[in-house]
Amino acid sequence: MYSTLITRLGGEIAIKGKNRVQFEKALMENMRAVVKDLGVKVAREGGRVEVRLNGADLDETVSRLKNVFGINSLSPVAETELDIEKIKETALLVVQDALEKRNTPVTFKVEARRANKRFPMESPQISQEVGRYVLSRTEGKLKVDVHNPELKLMVEVRESKAYLTCDVIPGPGGLPVGTAGKVLLLLSGGIDSPVAGYLAMRRGANVEAIHFHSFPFTSERAQEKVNDLAKILAGHSGRVRLHNVYFTEIQRQIRMHCPEEYSITIMRRIMMRIADRLAHERKCLALVTGESLGQVASQTLESMYTINNVTNIPILRPLVAMDKVDIMSIARRIGTYETSILPYEDCCTIFLPKNPKTRPKLHEAMRAEEKLDIEALITEALEKTETVLFTRES
Ligand code: ATP
Ligand code: MG
Repeated sequence: MYSTLITRLGGEIAIKGKNRVQFEKALMENMRAVVKDLGVKVAREGGRVEVRLNGADLDETVSRLKNVFGINSLSPVAETELDIEKIKETALLVVQDALEKRNTPVTFKVEARRANKRFPMESPQISQEVGRYVLSRTEGKLKVDVHNPELKLMVEVRESKAYLTCDVIPGPGGLPVGTAGKVLLLLSGGIDSPVAGYLAMRRGANVEAIHFHSFPFTSERAQEKVNDLAKILAGHSGRVRLHNVYFTEIQRQIRMHCPEEYSITIMRRIMMRIADRLAHERKCLALVTGESLGQVASQTLESMYTINNVTNIPILRPLVAMDKVDIMSIARRIGTYETSILPYEDCCTIFLPKNPKTRPKLHEAMRAEEKLDIEALITEALEKTETVLFTRES
């Protein structure tokens, strides 16, 4: 019965003036990428991005498209000729289909819109006729409520056909991936950083990821976990390139030469330096972390100040003002939570000092680092970096 999916775009795409075309182009490309094997056609039609199913399975198409950033919602539509009798018959089918998934009685309303002014009936009249027809053939399963209906049948009269739908399937909103440029996400195996990466993607960023491992102190399963998180993120954006940086020697040197209460601060300062280098190499214009203000010792303002000092590339912290419960609920929704809570150790937890400094001073951190040959350590870490590409299909 359904031939087409119509999309409603994120509000910001709609108001982006001249850039709108570019945003829509990027969106359509991203949509095509997820449905390319289904034989559907994605195109602009009547001021909207539409998907013609061409016989493809509706549920499968919806399940793939409903995660594409930039889409606010999707509706499957049934099409008819511009003939009021045909419209009424199709309306009944669409409503009956919607009723199958609901407990009755359901409150109901018809909302008609006439884009084609040559159609001989005005919108309110179309609504009335269609409503009356549907009500008289659904055996009391519907109750009219024009203010707050549970079920709304939308009838759109276009140039050469009418569109009918009852269903609004929410999408993730945001902006199409690729429209904001590229960022480098510091991806640990925890709950927060994957969520931060997801939120950056949702604002249109292409996300590459960097992970610091301390193999063999951290296990292969810990690495697997990070790979899995990168894979899940790639499922949202299409692709994630993950750079696994050899951090073992750096950890060892810090432990040998630096005061214990400053080890986390110094470790983070070196992570930032390495991420900064890689970002330049990979043409990323910002770093993204999962830091949230005050969450742990290394995320106090003093700590962020002291750690941030080694770089002047912008550091985006999408979670900075969020509570852990909010972050966890996003993690569950985007499918990273179950993987994040697996118990495998992280390079930070292994070397965790008993009393990390919660208000580390910049000058003390600088002095504590003096014994390290940071340049050589960074060069070695980058030389031993291994890169993997994850795509939606992998
Ligand atoms: P997460 O849940 O993301 O691990 P967290 O609450 O454990 O965060 P921290 O361990 O203090 O917080 O890490 C703060 C941020 O630093 C992380 O969100 C992440 O962006 C980055 N980070 C920490 N450890 C690593 C690592 N091993 N590799 C890459 N980035 C890391
Ligand atoms: Mg962590």
